[in-house]
Amino acid sequence: MNLKKTCLSLIAISLINPLTGFAFGKEQESKMKSLSITIFYNNLLHDERLEAAWGFACFIKGLEKNILFDTGGSGPILLSNMKKLGIKPQDVDVIFLSHNHPDHTGGLWDLLKEKHKLTVYLPESFPEDFKKRIKALGADFLSINKPIGELGRGIIEQSLVLGTEKGLVVITGCAHPGIAVILRKSKQMREGQIYLALGGFHLTSYSEAWIRRVIHSFKEMGVMKVGPGHCTGEKALELFKKNWEENFLEAGCGAIIEVR
Ligand SMILES: [Zn+2]
Ligand SMILES: [Zn+2]
Repeated sequence: MNLKKTCLSLIAISLINPLTGFAFGKEQESKMKSLSITIFYNNLLHDERLEAAWGFACFIKGLEKNILFDTGGSGPILLSNMKKLGIKPQDVDVIFLSHNHPDHTGGLWDLLKEKHKLTVYLPESFPEDFKKRIKALGADFLSINKPIGELGRGIIEQSLVLGTEKGLVVITGCAHPGIAVILRKSKQMREGQIYLALGGFHLTSYSEAWIRRVIHSFKEMGVMKVGPGHCTGEKALELFKKNWEENFLEAGCGAIIEVR
């Protein structure tokens, strides 16, 4: 038994939600040796067999439970992309919703019709009727406000931070509160390097000067790898690629990122 490897699931639990006892099989050891993140909803396309559409969703395997992070905008596209990648709705154990925007939550309802015996982890501020609708489909939900919790004053959003042997893996939906703010907060919460920042960085409408400042913050924080997608924007994608070179991970729809 490699003790180092077993840390993967344990750290992830404590980071996600120790207060509400995130049910990842807390004290159990994980036999998984690596973390794999499959992006199957993104407006940027990686795998030609899939359909690209505005929004974001990825599937995280390697912990005690399989996590679906966000659900994209359309149920049919989500389910069809999953199918093409060999991921069944039944494989999803937990759904983590970053924020209440239709391009991240729209696919939820069709998925819950296929599998409802699961828990949806959502920011506390989600509307009551959203929570009721989850219950009506037979699933359960859990409101999260700690430890990274909700960020932002306008659009409230939570991010998923996973601890791995390599460092922190931070997954963002749209990063509305600011990608650098999210990463800084993740680092404060947990010592250690940020190994990978993945997801929407929300830089589409920002100037090049602003993007360069964000990149500077990334460098200061020592972010090792980046996998920007969704609402990152072309200019920012280009600059991240230039700055991270081989540590820039192509994270379009259908990309599979392994952390081992
Ligand atoms: Zn959004
Ligand atoms: Zn979005």
